[in-house]
Formats: sequence, structure tokens, C-alpha cells
Amino acid sequence: MKLYKDLFIDFDDTLYDTRGNAIIALSELYEEMGFGELLESEEKFYEAYWQTNLALWGQYSRNEITRDYLIVERFRRPLSECAIQKKENWPTADYCLQVSDVFLSLCSSKPGLLDGARELMDDLRRKGYRMHLCSNGFHEVQYKKLRACGLMDYFDSVILSEDAGANKPSATFFEYALRTTGAKRESTLMIGDNYQSDIVGALDAGIDAMLYLRWDPDFVPPRKVNYVVPTLRDISAIL
Ligand SMILES: [Mg+2]
Repeated sequence: MKLYKDLFIDFDDTLYDTRGNAIIALSELYEEMGFGELLESEEKFYEAYWQTNLALWGQYSRNEITRDYLIVERFRRPLSECAIQKKENWPTADYCLQVSDVFLSLCSSKPGLLDGARELMDDLRRKGYRMHLCSNGFHEVQYKKLRACGLMDYFDSVILSEDAGANKPSATFFEYALRTTGAKRESTLMIGDNYQSDIVGALDAGIDAMLYLRWDPDFVPPRKVNYVVPTLRDISAIL
């Protein structure tokens, strides 16, 4: 195997159990905002939220929408869809922002990591890799999440797309990450769960990539990826 010195590691749903933590936060949000009085059912709301959220994050990573649009819209659509009483001007953008603030604060306080994440970080640190978190997540949220889950100290640097001025998979993001960390392209490996933003982005920037199959164990990448691993534990055996 090639000798890597620097690891670019995605955070959400690669180390941090973003989906699991958000499920808990959504149910707390439902309670806290009194959605039971306003919406048809919890299940319908969650389903609408996940669908909308996934689609919007795809658009956000392609720079088609802004962060401000995303945080309002991911609640505006499901709330309006699931409202018991359909009203033309409900929910307002201000109300959605308020919902978003509560939700982000609930989310970012959750400590949940994916199975094997801490052991993996311990192992990689012991092996002497320099580790850089590479994420499209929002600035004010990512640092809180990092502290809540206790992984902050493992990273030599934190590279966020809001600082880079571009999202993964844009080459601008990866060039910024190389420049800021001083990592060499040829001895860097990007590890992530998102085929498009983490893997295709890194490969396009001339960086080797490792896909962690968080979502579909049978997924076959359309492009040749340097490494594909079904669990986080498999990473230690390779690196
Ligand atoms: Mg991810």
C-alpha cells in the first residue's frame, strides 16, 4: 500500500452519527415546538423532513443554493406539507429560522458517534497520521458537535467549506485543504461516506479516496475508488 501521511476525514456520518443524533433531536424539536398541535402526524413530518433535507444538501454541495436558503427551506416545506390547517403564509421564514435555531442547538449538543469511530481515531493517532477534518457542515455547528462527541483533540486541523469558500466536491475546497494543512497531494487520503462530495471530489483533485459504505453495503462505485470499506473497523486493517 501507498504510504499516506495526511488523512482528510469527513465528519458527518463518517465519524459522527449525524443521522442518529438528528432523529433524537427531531423528536425533541417536535415536543419543544408543540408540533403535535399543528401537524398531522409525527411520522409524516419526519418523512417529509428527511426527503427535503437530503435533496437540499445535494443542491447545497453543488453550490445551487445558499446555507440560509437550506436552513429555512428544510423546515418550510415539511411544515407546510404536514400542517393540519393549510394557510398560505404559514410557516413564515422567521418562524422556520426559529425552528432551525432550536433544531441546530439540539443537534449540536448530541455526543453520538458511529460504531468504532473512537477506536479508529485512537488507532490512526497511534500510527502517527496527521488528521484533518474536511466538512461541508456549518461553522457554528461543527465545532459544537466536535466538542460534544469528544473528537476535537484528534484533529490537527479543521477544514470547513464555509472557510474554504467552496463545498466538497469542488476542487477549490480540496486545493484550499491541501494549502492550509501543508499536506502533499500524493501522500494524502480522503475518507468519507458520500460518494459524490467526498470521493469524486477527492479523485478529481488528484487525491486518493476511501469510501466508507455507511448507507448501502451493496453500493458499487461507478468510478474506480482506491479503497471501499463496509465498516469503520476495516479502515484500521488497511492504514
Ligand atoms: Mg458525510
